Amino acid sequence: MKIAVVGGGAAGYFASVSAKKHFPNADVHLIEKTGKTLSKVKISGGGRCNVTHHCLNNRELSQHYPRGERFLRKSFEQFSVADTITWFEQHGVELKVETDNRMFPRTDDSQTIVETLTKAINEHGVILRLNSSVDSFAKQNAGFILRITGQRELFNRVIIATGGSPKRQGMNWLSDIGVKVVSPVPSLFTFNIPQDHITTLLGVSTSDAEVQIVGKKLSSKGPVLITHWGLSGPAVLKLSAIGARILADCDYKFKVAVSWVGMKEHQVREILELHSQNNSQKQIGNLHLFEIPKRLWSYLLVKSEIASDRTWNEISKKLQNRLINLLVNDTYNVNGKTTFKEEFVTAGGVELSDVNPETMESTEVTGLYFAGEVLDIDGITGGFNFQAAWTTGFIAGKHVGR
Ligand SMILES: Cc1cc2nc3c(=O)[nH]c(=O)nc-3n(C[C@H](O)[C@H](O)[C@H](O)COP(=O)(O)OP(=O)(O)OC[C@H]3O[C@@H](n4cnc5c(N)ncnc54)[C@H](O)[C@@H]3O)c2cc1C
Repeated sequence: MKIAVVGGGAAGYFASVSAKKHFPNADVHLIEKTGKTLSKVKISGGGRCNVTHHCLNNRELSQHYPRGERFLRKSFEQFSVADTITWFEQHGVELKVETDNRMFPRTDDSQTIVETLTKAINEHGVILRLNSSVDSFAKQNAGFILRITGQRELFNRVIIATGGSPKRQGMNWLSDIGVKVVSPVPSLFTFNIPQDHITTLLGVSTSDAEVQIVGKKLSSKGPVLITHWGLSGPAVLKLSAIGARILADCDYKFKVAVSWVGMKEHQVREILELHSQNNSQKQIGNLHLFEIPKRLWSYLLVKSEIASDRTWNEISKKLQNRLINLLVNDTYNVNGKTTFKEEFVTAGGVELSDVNPETMESTEVTGLYFAGEVLDIDGITGGFNFQAAWTTGFIAGKHVGR
């Protein structure tokens, strides 16, 4: 049995080790087009590698994938976050949990993960082939002919782990063999609001905001950060992932509504009215409500045309309504996106309806398997994308020799 694992990233490494572990007599070739493997692992998580997310409930875990939720729910039953933690522990890497549940190696250094994966393929006897690009492949009898940098070579089984492709053409070699591909679009980006006054508040953040795409039923809650080009922070990144395809379709020109306080209008009104009664003689500019940063509060007052030296009892109903509206529904015209450098992924890839989530085998092409970001799976930030790579890689390797 000769198995080709195409792509030397997180998924390819995990798939190779798993294939060798489950089928020790097979020759496993890990084929990488560049001269270097695990490049993304190395730069991931700001050089620390956010290996996974401490979420031990598989249903809850799968909800962090805007694409692939139902598919992964089944796959996590075979290889979950707990299995990832155990796998790395057994290979000498202790993972630590941060307050937001992201998990990193205790060394805080992605090199630990690179070295561990490198050691694992060496110990299992995986044959690593660098500078070997798989340009095309074709089915032949019970196997596949791969064209590797111009040379044809026969393999019995193939695992494709070539990662995401920003362009549809990058996936044509898969379509050619009958694999259906969902066109790729970027995910995990921040929103550009050029020339808007809000950008003068760069560096200001709120922890309990809600962002919503106006006219679409898409919203997300969490911290929002104002940058010199627009809006960023976990809530915005999550929304960019949820709406990746819709936002690509409108060429990243859309309206976003921000609730700076993450509450409904009637709740804000109640709090504000009570506050106003109890502080009627105090200046509105001096009060800190809803834990809104002072600079943002001053900005919202200016935008509501309320002078900050006015006392609460001087504010007319009309102005109060305007302020409430801005607190819960502050609308901006987004024009363009900025890629989030920390954890960029592509939405789109091999169509999941044509892949068996229990084996990662193509339902159309027998003997062909997939793992990692090449699949139409992507998660939000926080370690979910690597978890998908570990899970799908492990499963593909476990079944490839059957
Ligand atoms: C800057 C950055 C930081 C990130 N940080 C995190 C993080 O901390 N946590 C997290 O969960 N996710 C993170 N991600 C996302 C994560 O890195 C990816 O989801 C993950 O690497 C996907 O793994 P993969 O093995 O599927 O693909 P890749 O890592 O992209 O590997 C694919 C490999 O296949 C090779 N290849 C492609 N085509 C061919 C071919 N035809 N022949 C041979 N070889 C080929 C490529 O050269 C590459 O080495 C980050 C992404 C980026 C860009």
